[in-house]
Amino acid sequence: MKILIVEDSRTNLQILTQYVQRLGAEVVHAMSGQEGIDLFQREQPDIVLLDIVLPDIDGFGVAQRIRALENQGNWAPIIFLSSLDKDEDIEKGIAAGGDDYLLKPVSEVVLGAKIRAMQRIVQMRTSLVVMAKKLDRANAELRRLSASDGLTGIANRRYFDEAIGREWRRARRLSASVALIMCDVDYFKLYNDTYGHQAGDDCLRRVAATLQKFMERATDVAARFGGEEFAIVLPETNIGGALFIAEKIRHGIHDLNLTHDASPFGKVTISMGIASAIPGVDNPYDDLIQAADRALYQAKHEGRDRVCRADAIPAH
Ligand code: GH3
Ligand code: MG
Ligand code: MG
Ligand code: MG
Repeated sequence: MKILIVEDSRTNLQILTQYVQRLGAEVVHAMSGQEGIDLFQREQPDIVLLDIVLPDIDGFGVAQRIRALENQGNWAPIIFLSSLDKDEDIEKGIAAGGDDYLLKPVSEVVLGAKIRAMQRIVQMRTSLVVMAKKLDRANAELRRLSASDGLTGIANRRYFDEAIGREWRRARRLSASVALIMCDVDYFKLYNDTYGHQAGDDCLRRVAATLQKFMERATDVAARFGGEEFAIVLPETNIGGALFIAEKIRHGIHDLNLTHDASPFGKVTISMGIASAIPGVDNPYDDLIQAADRALYQAKHEGRDRVCRADAIPAH
């Protein structure tokens, strides 16, 4: 344990140092307020014994400045040691951030007992800080888990709903375009039937990773929409931009070369429907999803392994 003593009287300092050392604690000491603040930052003591009448900044001011450092993770109990015995002084000391107030001269026994009590508080606070950090980490992990799809690890449907809602509102404010790509794996039932469900799962993971690979902007979101369907939100993107990315993805899936003998293409392919819109005053993002869905249906109908674009969505 390290104790900082801020005291400008040499005699008092000597006595206090003896008391503290006999408790088995290490002592660092300052003889002025400013020196006390500097030492507090540099030495990070466990407890501070603080005189009030000092040559420069008084003890109240020192306590206030030490407390201002608290958000940098620097905290220690402060015990005032003073010959000022008015009620107002004690009140002022506690208000300035002190935790206890002892009148001089202080007996060794009382000081020892107070220091032990403060030590207990320090230990309690330390375990609280450790616990709070663990909680922060656990919460971050929970947030990540609740936003990601268990099978593929990319964003899940819940995150997609949030993202498209958020981007749709933002685009409305900015009069900007939002694009959506709906993707569906071709002949996937046959893939499962041919290679088994486990291989089907692996295939979905590979497809998801490929979609993710082409998300270039921080705000682009590729999500598993459900089953073997995926949805991609592209903020500030028009239909031309969406087509460009969709074609890159389609080629990316080709390049995976996942054998699919039951498909006329001989390998895993996907079909995509794309739509884009500048949100009107009233229209919901469902319009965008429906338009992309219709385009996807058309891509399937026209033979699969292709991208179809939706007609413009009328703003209303
Ligand atoms: P299309 O080319 O028209 O899209 O035909 P399809 O066979 O891909 O479409 P369909 O909707 O008939 O079949 C989708 C299949 O996807 C059926 C279902 O068992 C499978 N599927 C959905 N979710 C999963 C999953 O998580 N893992 C696996 N292995 N298969 C899944
Ligand atoms: Mg003094
Ligand atoms: Mg499907
Ligand atoms: Mg399918």
